[in-house]
Amino acid sequence: MKGSGDLRSALRSIDRRSYPAYKSLAGAWSFGDYVLSIDHVQGDPFAAPSRLSVQVRHDRAAFPPEYRETRENRRALADYLLRRFGLQADRFRFQAKGSGKSGLLSVSRPGQEVLERTACSIGPEEITLRFEVGFPANGRTINAYELEKILFDFLPVCVAESLTYAKTPKEALRRAVFLAEDQLFIRRELERLGLAAFVADGAVLPRESGVSDRPMKNAVPFRSPDAMAVTLDLPHLGKLRGMGVKTGITVIAGGGYHGKSTLLKALERGVYDHVAGDGREYVITDPTAVKIRAEDGRKITDVDVSLFINHLPSGGDTTHFSTLDASGSTSQAANIIEAVEAGSRLLLIDEDTSATNLMVRDELMTRVISRDKEPITPFLERASDLYEKAGVSIILVVGSCGAYFHLADQIIQMDAYRAVDITSGTKALLADSPVPRLTAPDFRLPDRTRRIDLSGATQTRRSYRGDKVMEERLKIKRLGRTAFALGREELDLRYVEQLVDEEQTQALAVLLRYAKENFGTAGAGVRSVADALVQLLEQKGLAGACGRDVPSGLAMPRVQEIFACLNRY
Ligand code: ADP
Ligand code: MG
Repeated sequence: MKGSGDLRSALRSIDRRSYPAYKSLAGAWSFGDYVLSIDHVQGDPFAAPSRLSVQVRHDRAAFPPEYRETRENRRALADYLLRRFGLQADRFRFQAKGSGKSGLLSVSRPGQEVLERTACSIGPEEITLRFEVGFPANGRTINAYELEKILFDFLPVCVAESLTYAKTPKEALRRAVFLAEDQLFIRRELERLGLAAFVADGAVLPRESGVSDRPMKNAVPFRSPDAMAVTLDLPHLGKLRGMGVKTGITVIAGGGYHGKSTLLKALERGVYDHVAGDGREYVITDPTAVKIRAEDGRKITDVDVSLFINHLPSGGDTTHFSTLDASGSTSQAANIIEAVEAGSRLLLIDEDTSATNLMVRDELMTRVISRDKEPITPFLERASDLYEKAGVSIILVVGSCGAYFHLADQIIQMDAYRAVDITSGTKALLADSPVPRLTAPDFRLPDRTRRIDLSGATQTRRSYRGDKVMEERLKIKRLGRTAFALGREELDLRYVEQLVDEEQTQALAVLLRYAKENFGTAGAGVRSVADALVQLLEQKGLAGACGRDVPSGLAMPRVQEIFACLNRY
């Protein structure tokens, strides 16, 4: 491998040449303590910046081996290193100057969740950190001396400060790794104790604002009602008391503005681990939990929604329901069926974002509109069977509809942000009120293989260069935080609420393209495509789906979001 001295001479020799001469720098260069790879060089100063990576061998980085023993440890370690690298890189952004993106030095910015990312990965031999640099130019003329500053003055500092144990704040890193181990321990305890979720005493659930995911200052800390309290004994933190939400049907009730949705939101996010200081570090939910909501206008392909919708006025078949523009109730029904298909054992529902006609039908309405004129079997009449017969638990926020009290195994009241267990009091009240119909006949979950169409263009175009056929892969275009275009098709995932990071959206785009390229026959089974993608991720990680050029900005989605993406394509 060539050394950094060679890179310096190569760089100086192309100074003031036209921009494409930068391409000659691609490749790996040894810097002694690390290897610098110039993976992809941008075509001009205004194009997407160049992609670089550094690899530091473990014997040089010298982080304790026990910090990278398990996948969860590695994820926590990588997350910590990435955040440190980002802080360092900030000091040097645009310190080198020039036109367009000259001097940009950028790396992924993780939010409150700790996710596996392509930006930093811990392999068996080495740590890889991927980032982007805007190669400097004046106009379109190479300014090699400015790039020399970045690669020889700035970058070595970033690497030394963030990717070596010697320079790392050891106590903070240890806390981050131990936190991940404690979080994993709680996830395993959930299963052993028959819990769907755990919310620790002292947790801070509300966020700073609608646009900030940071904890609210001076919030009322969470405290479990005694009747629901469990105390776990974490390997590092020790004893931790909190609210154990049992599997089954749980209703969260309470007046408007008392903190119901905030609790549910925290549970939605509890499928991921959070960083120390987030306030939700010890809010842990069944990792398969899916937020269910109405999603007017979504696309639905061949979903059997007959559990909730028996017939359509148009006479359409609801066991093979497809539409480009679903209504509130049909979209929510499809979301439920698809979530169960995606392996969810816990549905999270907020009345605020539900289709009322899917959730309940009151007694007066049943008298006015006879059952045979109403295609909808309300969720109320399916919920107990979902748990009893299919093992799917439900946590449901209600503000106006009392009927669910009849079904609830546990009822939590949020009262001025304090959780109160009102199960027995409410059940006593119910004893002398009329009981609505609570189960509908013929509960049966669809078990057939659902098919989706992944065929269609997998290449944007074929061009001919001489007698060589050039095939270009479908282009992925970022459309904000929750949407992307693959070729000409746009996919909007804004109502997939547990998609929490822009980089997860990007990863879904890459996975969808991979699926199209590799299993793109018409009528592939949704489950088999999702399974194949999950297997790919298990074996090769996110990078495996990218081919030669691994972008620095992908984060791992859950299998449930992979399904959600395929389902909306
Ligand atoms: P609900 O769904 O019951 O109407 P929300 O969960 O939307 O209520 O909460 C209403 C407001 O109270 C929100 O602005 C939220 O940020 C704030 N809030 C929620 N929980 C707390 C808390 N523990 N401490 C302080 N403020 C809170
Ligand atoms: Mg609410």
